[in-house]
Amino acid sequence: LEVNQLLTKSDLAKYPFLPEAANYIKQLLLDITELSKPEYRELLGNAEKQIVNCITKNSLEGTTNKYEIEIPTFPITIMLIAAIGDSFLKKRYALLEAKKISQFLQEEKPEKIMYIASFFKWRIKQLKNQPFHSVYEFKLHFADYLKNSTIFHEKKWKLINRHMKGGEVFLPKADVTRLLEEEIRKYIEKKLEAEIPTLPNEVKEYIERLRTLLKSRKRKLQQEELPRTVLTEAFPPCMKTLYEMVLRGQHLSHIERFALTTFLINVGMTPENVTTLFKTSTDFNEKMTKYQVEHIAGTRGSRTKYMPPKCDTMRTHNICRETDTICQKIRHPLSYYKRKSRTRKKDSEETKSKNFT
Ligand code: SF4
Repeated sequence: LEVNQLLTKSDLAKYPFLPEAANYIKQLLLDITELSKPEYRELLGNAEKQIVNCITKNSLEGTTNKYEIEIPTFPITIMLIAAIGDSFLKKRYALLEAKKISQFLQEEKPEKIMYIASFFKWRIKQLKNQPFHSVYEFKLHFADYLKNSTIFHEKKWKLINRHMKGGEVFLPKADVTRLLEEEIRKYIEKKLEAEIPTLPNEVKEYIERLRTLLKSRKRKLQQEELPRTVLTEAFPPCMKTLYEMVLRGQHLSHIERFALTTFLINVGMTPENVTTLFKTSTDFNEKMTKYQVEHIAGTRGSRTKYMPPKCDTMRTHNICRETDTICQKIRHPLSYYKRKSRTRKKDSEETKSKNFT
């Protein structure tokens, strides 16, 4: 079963992004243009299953020991998702795959973790002969650390809170695997942007089926990602300003009112509550407001739920006046909200666990 001294075929199924896995697939003489052949049906079916699970269950299947199917499933899944061409699905899959891999990594010996880290050109060293009580197993060059940690908002990831010496950050295994998970997630996202070769018609049928499934579930999936209760503290600066203006009874222009209403509806506020919110407004007309809000919420008229304008549009209309660091990373006020509410959840979990220790 040995592929090289360190990796077995089971490892290639667990870490299918490694070049050794690509070599293994080459040995199977797998050619994309021949994917429509009956002998590859199981492989395509397996990749399809992964994507269906990703869409419907927000999870991926574990690996089996049918390596000739398991190992090539990864590039085929990547190819299918790239061909579907939906950025939401790409992100969702990359995150799930990276999380799955990270769970395997947590069980690995330091040598294997180092090997996988070396694929990403990390400058990492194992700390041997540490005192018995030491929690640190690795030291990592600070640039490699920063490359993957800046996305984390918990305080422990700030470089200033880390034990450092000679430009190297001392880390326990759990933190190294978390950083690797982020590196892998980015790597997979990049792979999903690769150009797609011309595919046989039979494969295109798989893609169309998956596109239809995704389309039927998309709105629900996006909603799932939002917190269940409205978190005003996670509002972006633009929406915070508009929200406070309404609370103060100030007048909002038509586009400002549209932006705020669509935002509030999309983060889960009920049309009734949005209507009540506007009650304090100087030019409040209950019937009219109720009609407009319900129209925007899709409960009346065209039955289409409207989305808030993108940041670009908000800027054009001069509604984006103040920005913060999160604004630099997003292009839509809802993405801001998603991001900030996730951080807030993590922060509160951190505080909770601190309170218990
Ligand atoms: S950048 Fe976007 S989210 Fe941030 S304040 Fe401007 S419009 Fe709002």
